[in-house]
Amino acid sequence: MGNRALKISIAHLYPELLNLYGDIGNIITLKKRCEWRGIEVEFEEIHTKDTIKEHDLYFIGGGQDKQQEEVADILYSHKSFLTEERDRGAVFLGICGGYQLFGHYYQPHDKDKLKGLSLMDAYTVAGNKRFIGNVTAKTDFLTPQTLVGFENHSGLTYLQGETKPLAIITTGNGNNGQDKTEGARYKNVFGTYLHGSFLPKNTHFADYLIELALEKRYGEKIKLQQLDDKIEMETHNSLINKAY
Ligand code: GLN
Repeated sequence: MGNRALKISIAHLYPELLNLYGDIGNIITLKKRCEWRGIEVEFEEIHTKDTIKEHDLYFIGGGQDKQQEEVADILYSHKSFLTEERDRGAVFLGICGGYQLFGHYYQPHDKDKLKGLSLMDAYTVAGNKRFIGNVTAKTDFLTPQTLVGFENHSGLTYLQGETKPLAIITTGNGNNGQDKTEGARYKNVFGTYLHGSFLPKNTHFADYLIELALEKRYGEKIKLQQLDDKIEMETHNSLINKAY
C-alpha cells in the first residue's frame, strides 16, 4: 500500500428506512477498518429526495415489507445510473430487504410486485414461513471461508444465470431454505440475508470489500495491512461453534 494517502467514498442508501437489526453496524465497520489504516473515507447518506453521485462502495440495509415498498420506486428511478456504477466496478453490499431489491423484483404477500434494480440475475417471492435464526455458511473465496450472522425473512430468493451464491449454507436457511445457497454475488455486487450486524462478525469480508473498493478507485490491487482481529475472530468462531 506504500505511504500513499488512500481514500474511498461510501454511500449509505436510505438509512432512515432500511436499517433493520442494527445494519448500521456494517457502515461503522467499514469506516473504522479504513480509519485504523489511515484510509480516508468520504461518507454520504443518501435519502429518498437525494440524487446519487459516483461512489466506490454502496451499502443498503434490510427492512420490513412496508419500508421496502417506500424505497423500491425511488431506488428504481436510479437503476440506469447504479447499473453503470456496477459496470464501472463499484462495490455494492445489500442486506436482506436491500439485497432483495438488487434482483429483478420482490413479490410480497398480497401486494404489488416491487421492481428491483436487476444488478444481479435473481428474484424474490414471499414464502409462507419466516426463516429466523443463526446462520453459518461457507464461501469459496474468503480466508477463513466461513460467514456467520442472523436471518429473519420470509422472502425466498432464487439465483439465475451468472449470479452465483455468496456462500453455501452449513446451518440455517439462507436464500430459500431449499438449494442451500446463501446470498449472491455478480461482479462486485454482493447480497446476503445475514443481519447481526453482518460485517463486525465477518471482518475478513469487510476487508475484502474495502480492497475491491480501492481497486475500483485506483485501478490496481491494494493489499490492506493486517489489523489485530483477535476479538473479532474469537466472536466469529464462537458463533460457528455455537451453531453446531
Ligand atoms: N421484508 C423482507 C422479508 O421478509 C426482508 C426482511 C429483512 O430485511 N429482514 O423477506
